[in-house]
Amino acid sequence: MIRPVIAGNWKMNKTVAESVAFAVRLLAAYDTAPGPEVIIAPPFTALQAVAEAIRGSFIALCAQNLHEAEKGAYTGEISGGMLREAGCTAVIIGHSERRTLFGEGDDRINRKLQAALTTGLKPIFCIGESLRQREEDETETVIAHQLKEGLNNLTADDIVRLAIAYEPVWAIGTGKTASPEQAERVHRFIREWIAGRYGPECAATLAILYGGSVTPANIAGLMAQPDINGGLIGGASLDVDSFIRIIGN
Ligand code: PEP
Repeated sequence: MIRPVIAGNWKMNKTVAESVAFAVRLLAAYDTAPGPEVIIAPPFTALQAVAEAIRGSFIALCAQNLHEAEKGAYTGEISGGMLREAGCTAVIIGHSERRTLFGEGDDRINRKLQAALTTGLKPIFCIGESLRQREEDETETVIAHQLKEGLNNLTADDIVRLAIAYEPVWAIGTGKTASPEQAERVHRFIREWIAGRYGPECAATLAILYGGSVTPANIAGLMAQPDINGGLIGGASLDVDSFIRIIGN
């Protein structure tokens, strides 16, 4: 049984005060921890303050990116060790916005995944095809390539420490969600690919999250699919009531 994961990616939204207020309201909504693992990914500037607000609670703190080096002359960058120090236990790696807007390729993403694992952070490894690739029937080829390159040099012991987020690029922030059946087909493909490479036990425990215009209205249909183990939520995670409804789907 894979514990569901609901992760909110706030991107470049929310001040420190807004981030803390969200965390406080989220905590206040529960007497006991909800069923799913709940993860929030505020901007870098708010990490430490949110870490204080959620200390000892059921909420896990996640960064949206890291640099693969331990330290050094990388102006503007943040290392895995710094994220740990700020209170993070997880990090999003390979988000399509990092791939397309910031030129991150599979090789870089692979180095970031290795850095995250070395530092003790749980990576949420994002993969997904573009609209053109889907229309040209290349979805599985693209996903297999991203998995092969992104996970290069990782062992089964590494794989059990990460989550994979399938995020079709055409569904991110567009209001166009993959149907539960469309998403399930790709999730099953991902699980079978992992089983083929790392063994069935490893694949059976891997949380595969769906991301792309998830809302309180469509989360239940997605979560009802056997290979969808949670969601990576962008826009709908910015409002605390909407996020709570998604957690409780
Ligand atoms: C995301 O950016 O990871 C995402 C899924 O965004 P949205 O939910 O807004 O489509």
